[in-house]
Amino acid sequence: MTDNPLKNNKRYLVSACLAGVNCRYDGQSTPVETVLELLRQGRALPVCPEQLGGLPTPRACCELQQGRVMNTEGQNLTEAFTRGAAEALRLSQLFGATHAILKSRSPSCGYTQIYDGSFSGALIPGNGIFAELLLKHEYLMLTELDVEDES
Ligand code: SF4
Repeated sequence: MTDNPLKNNKRYLVSACLAGVNCRYDGQSTPVETVLELLRQGRALPVCPEQLGGLPTPRACCELQQGRVMNTEGQNLTEAFTRGAAEALRLSQLFGATHAILKSRSPSCGYTQIYDGSFSGALIPGNGIFAELLLKHEYLMLTELDVEDES
């Protein structure tokens, strides 16, 4: 099986901001053509775990600090992130997704690399809250950085 999502028949959970949904903390999106094509084929389910956790859009920027989600206003939003991740997983399981394409570096969706918690733009190895949950459920995961040239 290839890693190229357009050359297999799997169902994908995708970060909604990669599908053009303006759900990012800054009220923007970052659409990726491979994800849009999966949507056209009916093989992608867009979810935003932060919105599903009840957070508003736009919202203050968040980063992980020693496993807790903190925003730039000093609020601990770990509970909302955890609740939203569980709701997003539930939707994905209903859809039958076994694979995921996630937005890199996000404190929710980031996979293998996230910001270091200092709000300075520095990166460290690690996963966001949602990506970590998907890993426990044995999803096969990519980020948009892996698929940007696939379409
Ligand atoms: S939580 Fe995920 S889907 Fe929502 S805006 Fe952040 S990266 Fe995109």
